[in-house]
Amino acid sequence: MSADDYDREGVLLNQAATAVWPEGIIQVKVPLPFSLKWVNSYLVPGQQGYTLIDPGLHTPDAVLAWNAALKAHEIAYEQIHTIMLTHQHPDHYGLAGWFQQRTAAPVLMSEQSHAYAVRLWGNDDSFSLELTDLYARHGMPAEVLNAIAPHLAAFRERVSPQPEITYISAGDMLQMGNRSWLAIDAPGHARGQLCLYDSAERRMFCGDQVLPDITPNVSVVPREDGDPLQQFLDSLVHLRSYEVELAFPGHRDPFTRFDDRAAELLLHHERRLAQIASLLEAEPCSGYDLCQRLFGARISGNTHNLRFAMSETLAHLFHLENRGQIHSRTRNGMIIFTS
Ligand SMILES: [Zn+2]
Repeated sequence: MSADDYDREGVLLNQAATAVWPEGIIQVKVPLPFSLKWVNSYLVPGQQGYTLIDPGLHTPDAVLAWNAALKAHEIAYEQIHTIMLTHQHPDHYGLAGWFQQRTAAPVLMSEQSHAYAVRLWGNDDSFSLELTDLYARHGMPAEVLNAIAPHLAAFRERVSPQPEITYISAGDMLQMGNRSWLAIDAPGHARGQLCLYDSAERRMFCGDQVLPDITPNVSVVPREDGDPLQQFLDSLVHLRSYEVELAFPGHRDPFTRFDDRAAELLLHHERRLAQIASLLEAEPCSGYDLCQRLFGARISGNTHNLRFAMSETLAHLFHLENRGQIHSRTRNGMIIFTS
């Protein structure tokens, strides 16, 4: 199946947008109303039923896709005994509670990922206030900032109902099918993200940490100290120590060149960092101005893409500052980066 199975709005056109991989692992392409088009969910069969990994965003189209996919594979909701979330992003987490209501299955997730989900979709708006404050300090103009809070609030219904979580930690072994999968900490794209690795068959569910064709987003998150890009780069180096013959990513299709792809991503970020350092050498600017220079028309008028681009730009800037390659100073309440 390909992106042709979806129309321009991301609506599933072909009800059989699934593929079966070795050991009967079913990939379900769950439609997304973003340019990513779909998120991959996986059903891993075993003696007792199925483990479901990352069920998708809660939209009417996703529910239709799931009904069709389960019918096509003659799977009843009750046959799903475990739900595993690689990380808390809404396109992976959103349908977990909906599935839990239909299956009574435990929903496994790391404690850090869950804490972030609670911050995002708990009972107060502090996250969106903190994010808009961060963006404002980095130069985002008010007319653009005003769209951020409503954009975040619109996700709430797409992650409802929210699941009861059972914690799983890096180092734990998860039994799926006939195999034991090692949970591996994979921060940077999402703090608390877990990959799952089967050393016998050298397969990995890699969440959004290593994606074919597209570069995983690395974002600064308010109140999370540190350097997410450094965490991401360290995690890629760590993941390369596992021999992987087949990787099951959160987006696009399963792929074989895991080590090569991780190396490409490391190179991509080094080039990006060098590009940013030379742009700042030519002209000091705010994070927002740099974001416009890097992404330009690609993010214009699209709050979703703008948010990813802005947070990713800041991740690179914070990393360069941490390395001592650039500096920041505050001018009229706005942070300006210089070489
Ligand atoms: Zn993600």
